[in-house]
Amino acid sequence: MGAVAMSERDVAVEPLVTADRARQLATRLAGSQDREVVRQLAQACAETGTTLKLASSLGAEDQVLTHMLLEIAADARVFVLDTGRLHQQTYDLMSRMMTRYGFQYEVYAPQAETVQEMVSAHGPNLFYASVENRKRCCFVRKVEPLNRALQGAGAWMTGLRRGQSDDRADTPVVEWDEAHGALKVNPLATWSEQQVWDYLREHRVPYNELHDHGYPSIGCQPCTRAIDQGEDPRAGRWWWENGAAKECGLHTETVPPRVTEAGPTG
Ligand code: SF4
Repeated sequence: MGAVAMSERDVAVEPLVTADRARQLATRLAGSQDREVVRQLAQACAETGTTLKLASSLGAEDQVLTHMLLEIAADARVFVLDTGRLHQQTYDLMSRMMTRYGFQYEVYAPQAETVQEMVSAHGPNLFYASVENRKRCCFVRKVEPLNRALQGAGAWMTGLRRGQSDDRADTPVVEWDEAHGALKVNPLATWSEQQVWDYLREHRVPYNELHDHGYPSIGCQPCTRAIDQGEDPRAGRWWWENGAAKECGLHTETVPPRVTEAGPTG
């Protein structure tokens, strides 16, 4: 079950124990804008003893938020889902960030035994065989680790923007994530791509060099390609799929999809 847009009035989702705190935070954040959302959220979480985490894929938007959050709280908790299939450039950026800002990411890797079973049964490139297989791989390598990353978190931040795709056009700044029982905040929801890059340049924040080579959206290496001029920004994600929503399930799914019985592929 995915997240649902939340207003000040309809946040209560019983019997979730954090709903009251979420309502208080939503009230405080109402009407705030981007950096102010981050500041208010961090402050409110600190005051209420609520664990706040930022999910980072090391993409441009997440670099903006990491910089904003670290300026506010040097001990900010930023986590990365290390799928084991990321680009080397992404790992390079991760190392660079740790050196530049003197902090450590919380790294969540997939369960080794589950990956072993999946790859043994369906091959290392099962995702090319079907949408179902691809979603299974995303669940094992991303969604399940995300669920662990958010255990005990009362609020989390993402770099989702409405302009990233049609599927994200309605992204709210503040929403109640029913699946994880946490407040989900998307401070850059209304930002344009230009605003993201203006911020990175103004503050000299490091970014993934793949962005300079036609990759507006960066995921796992085997599932991401550069896009051509004029293509949808997420056209390079799972480019071989037609008609399917270009999402890995991090913002939409919490249960594992069934795997087709196809043998090892490509
Ligand atoms: S993006 Fe590709 S490699 Fe990464 S988890 Fe999803 S299917 Fe697997």
